[in-house]
Amino acid sequence: MEAKERMEQLVQTLNQANYRYYVLDDPTMADRDYDLLLRELESLEEAHPELARPDSPTKRVGGEALSKFEKVVHPVPLNSLQDVFSLEELGEFVQKMKEFDQHILFSVEPKIDGLSVALEYVNGQFVRGATRGDGSVGEDVTENLKTIHTIPMMLKDPPARLIVRGEVFMPKSSFHRLNRRQEELGKPLFANPRNAAAGSLRQLDPKIAAKRGLDLYVFNIQLAEGVTFQTHSETLDYLQKLGFPVIPHSRLETLEEVTAQVTAINEYREQLPCDIDGAVIKVDSLAQREQLGDTAKYPRWAAAYKYPPEIKETQVKDIIVQVGRTGVLTPKAVVHPVRLAGTTVTNATLHNQDFINERDIRIGDTVRIRKAGEIIPEILEVDISKRPADALPYYLPRVCPVCGAPTAKDEEGAFLRCTGAECPAQLSRNIAHFVSRDAMDIEGLGGAIVDALIEKGFLKSPADIYYLTFGQVKSLWQKGELAAQKLIAAIQQSKQQDVARLIYALGIRQVGVKAGKVLAAHFGSLDALMAASQEELTAVPDVGEITAGFLVDWFRQPQSQHLVERLRQAGVNFQSLREVTDHRFAGKTFVLTGALTQFTREEATEKIELFGGKASGSVSKKTSFVVAGENAGSKERKARELGIPILSEEEFLKMLGE
Ligand code: AMP
Repeated sequence: MEAKERMEQLVQTLNQANYRYYVLDDPTMADRDYDLLLRELESLEEAHPELARPDSPTKRVGGEALSKFEKVVHPVPLNSLQDVFSLEELGEFVQKMKEFDQHILFSVEPKIDGLSVALEYVNGQFVRGATRGDGSVGEDVTENLKTIHTIPMMLKDPPARLIVRGEVFMPKSSFHRLNRRQEELGKPLFANPRNAAAGSLRQLDPKIAAKRGLDLYVFNIQLAEGVTFQTHSETLDYLQKLGFPVIPHSRLETLEEVTAQVTAINEYREQLPCDIDGAVIKVDSLAQREQLGDTAKYPRWAAAYKYPPEIKETQVKDIIVQVGRTGVLTPKAVVHPVRLAGTTVTNATLHNQDFINERDIRIGDTVRIRKAGEIIPEILEVDISKRPADALPYYLPRVCPVCGAPTAKDEEGAFLRCTGAECPAQLSRNIAHFVSRDAMDIEGLGGAIVDALIEKGFLKSPADIYYLTFGQVKSLWQKGELAAQKLIAAIQQSKQQDVARLIYALGIRQVGVKAGKVLAAHFGSLDALMAASQEELTAVPDVGEITAGFLVDWFRQPQSQHLVERLRQAGVNFQSLREVTDHRFAGKTFVLTGALTQFTREEATEKIELFGGKASGSVSKKTSFVVAGENAGSKERKARELGIPILSEEEFLKMLGE
């Protein structure tokens, strides 16, 4: 078979499998088979890029990053909806429509809490997708939309030109996954799926959007050349046949039916993959819509009913504290179960001590509770009149409920953190830090294997990695014996690392890579550092009083001491390997600028520090030398202005004696 033909066949087969998997949720192909065919297609496209089809599933992983989004004018504006806030107002709306025409029918749909987009198809091919923007002009986010698996790239039996409107959302499952990852990376969390979806759709790099697991429902035809319909329901059926994921909808007649459906949607919202913020009630007949017309802002024939936030009364049975992977203590109220927005609620977040103080929440209190942002229930207020006489103010514990180590306020003061060096709640993250590149630099000890080793009970402290046996690693590893041996060897080798790395690896607050180096150079060994007093530590250049305090506190704790002793027993190096015997750069500060050819910035910095000098990022009067590589810019200029000696890379090499 010719390449072209085979590629067409593969695209078709894979797109069909995609549709079954993502849109119909009814897979027909095993993951492995899919991957094999996709790989075959990829290699064919690599060999014949000119034959690559625009609707190829390989495009779903995200193409080139953009520098900005182009503007798109919407041929048919993306209108807003009028809101109704109570069932009474909803009744008035339905009544008004019935006065216009007794035989009116309504389509009732969930109102998806996401972002509106318009998707354009020419001869069945997806050519462009844009955000709503102000309704008339949006932004071209085609590349990001291509990464959404449920959006068809090619339609079956399409009209010559078609524009559909849909709502992009982040499924709750993707949202939780994303926030878990954000937390692991120490990045800020997204407040709710809507924000996360908006942030993802407006990524200039589609590869990032591709990883976010976005999805969409279409709910309207904006324009379809050469096809006519009588009703909105017909258009939705048509969209379904074309291969779109279509919004759930029902066609109803009476106010009772409409109200019942609106209530039912609120009840089944938990089962939907996405958040909703209401229900939309639309006149179904397109002719009637035409007659009713639009106001300046919205169509007269539709209304959005916003569910009132449901508030219930319940009682706080207990307050429990959870310790997150970063060591933050989060208090939670355990409440008597109540039904709220379609789920049974058994607990509510209390955020932190300030939140508890502000609302004066105590165990035994009767409270009013609400679901905020539809995710985590929150306590609004306490009914003081129902407070038991013996209820006491609540304070977060001074020791970690998981490991018993003291808790301490974090830098901003809002949260309490566990300080235990071996706290089980933080172990996985602490180990990830311990083995990371700037720390002990152990390659191959990834998150999944660490978690599995912890689960088996092989790792209870970061030090335990030095006691892992080949058998233990092998028993949990898929990658084969050789790789397991290599990992054990890498672990053993890391024992020889400089103590500067070890100091950083311990994960003491505010002790970063640079502090690790400074402390190692100053004290020469971990034992000397441990023996240092607060005053001695504060006297070290670049070490502030707060950091000194964190160091003293850390080394004083039994868990830290246990960790250090286990490391010592394992034979981990506690000495600085870079004893400064040659002080040729003592008291000298270097600024590196431009591209160096002989070494990286980090390597050059290490050399400078080896001879007792310092490297700094900015030029000032205190700078001794500026080392200017290729294409040096403003720093070189500034040095010249200040009359600071500028060294070429060769001159710098000479100074190093190389
Ligand atoms: P608003 O932004 O409050 O005026 O509400 C209108 C928005 O609701 C539209 O821009 C759509 O993005 C969104 N929406 C979500 N689901 C639907 C639906 N089923 N029908 C119409 N609009 C919807």
